[in-house]
Amino acid sequence: MRAFIFFLTLTVLAPLLALPAPDPKPQPQISAVVKEISAKNIEASIQKLVGFGTRHTLSETKSETRGIGAARRWLQAEFNRYRADSGGRLQVAMDEFLQPPDERNPELVQVVNVVATLPGEQPEARDRIYVVSGHYDSRVSDPLNAEADAPGANDDASGVAAVLEMARVMSQKKWDATIVFMAVAGEEQGLFGSTHWARMAKEKKWNIAGMITNDIIGSPHAEGGNFASTRVRLFAEGIPPLREMSEAWLQQIKTGGENDGPTRQLARFIKTQGERYVPGMTVDIIYRKDRYLRGGDHSPFLEAGYPAVRMTEPNEDYRHQHQDVRKEDGVQFGDLPEFVDFEYVAQVARINAASLGALALAPAAPGGVEMETKELTNDTTLHWQANHEPDLAGYEVVWRETTAPLWQRSLAAGKETRFTVPKVSKDNYLFGVVAIDADGNRSPAVYPVPAAK
Ligand SMILES: [Zn+2]
Repeated sequence: MRAFIFFLTLTVLAPLLALPAPDPKPQPQISAVVKEISAKNIEASIQKLVGFGTRHTLSETKSETRGIGAARRWLQAEFNRYRADSGGRLQVAMDEFLQPPDERNPELVQVVNVVATLPGEQPEARDRIYVVSGHYDSRVSDPLNAEADAPGANDDASGVAAVLEMARVMSQKKWDATIVFMAVAGEEQGLFGSTHWARMAKEKKWNIAGMITNDIIGSPHAEGGNFASTRVRLFAEGIPPLREMSEAWLQQIKTGGENDGPTRQLARFIKTQGERYVPGMTVDIIYRKDRYLRGGDHSPFLEAGYPAVRMTEPNEDYRHQHQDVRKEDGVQFGDLPEFVDFEYVAQVARINAASLGALALAPAAPGGVEMETKELTNDTTLHWQANHEPDLAGYEVVWRETTAPLWQRSLAAGKETRFTVPKVSKDNYLFGVVAIDADGNRSPAVYPVPAAK
């Protein structure tokens, strides 16, 4: 009996003995980016954006000092300033279009996204695009009020300031894949800017391998005194809420992979890399597309089929969100800069930059990952398609218990595109395959679909 228990213990523990490969030393380039992100610059950008009075999508566009037109011209000039420091590599564009009238825009309105693209340096990786966004439009209590002061310091000058600072710092360095830094408009009227851009990307069949929107990342303080300056929420959708389920999702759900879609893999990657490069910060993944029944600029990207997540502060303060600037019974309402913690915004920007940098240095996540099912066996065999980056070093098979949120174990698979994990059953664990380059940069994991028998 004792021998049997000993045997049982060994059998159960065996899968846990293959510890994950030690994290390679931090990439100096990512550490430098994290260090160079400045709370002072972020504060200056937020104050400048608030200084335009209102950035309502239907506001004044001719003035040089007030309204959304002045705000976007300033954003364009900022990106162009970074372009000069990037040796001309950062490409700045105004993505303009006319949004037809709707509930929240009584008249045809010109909407402009300000977009800065840093092309990847590696030809094999250049078509792989990562997008980071914030929205520069703002609003008060009445969503149609384009006249009143709408400072939008937290919602969402904080996100835009973080995107600007990332563009400034990251465009001075070289990355394998392409990074798009985007300040969108029309968010408060119905996600106009992000919808336009995501649909265009889908039409052009662009490979958006990951998208992060930063919206309301300005303060760790909430009404009622909740305070969590070392945490940020990362909203990540599981299965998309569609009436018609795609074949890919069907295959995934059939095998218990409902928590392993591309967006959840992106969230795991951001949590792991963000916390690795920004010690002291915790990324709280929330298994939900957004806050309860609310939406943001990642939604149109998800609808277009791209992995996309939302970063938001840990506790929102609704006295300072979508409110007319006013005092009631001595309480100040309104989204004013005095309620933004610039150092906190910088920490969230650092998490973003570390994750984007790690994504843009790493090889693409492997394609065609499949689980072999021909024979009933307690070993687990996976195969996948070869990557084509010249700096590819090989692959790694990762796995975790089915109830665990993050990868727990791994084995190096070398340069082969087929690998067997002995004595670890696919019945009991969730698996993934990761690509690794010569510097130790790892891609997000890909969940295997069952191979045809
Ligand atoms: Zn917002």
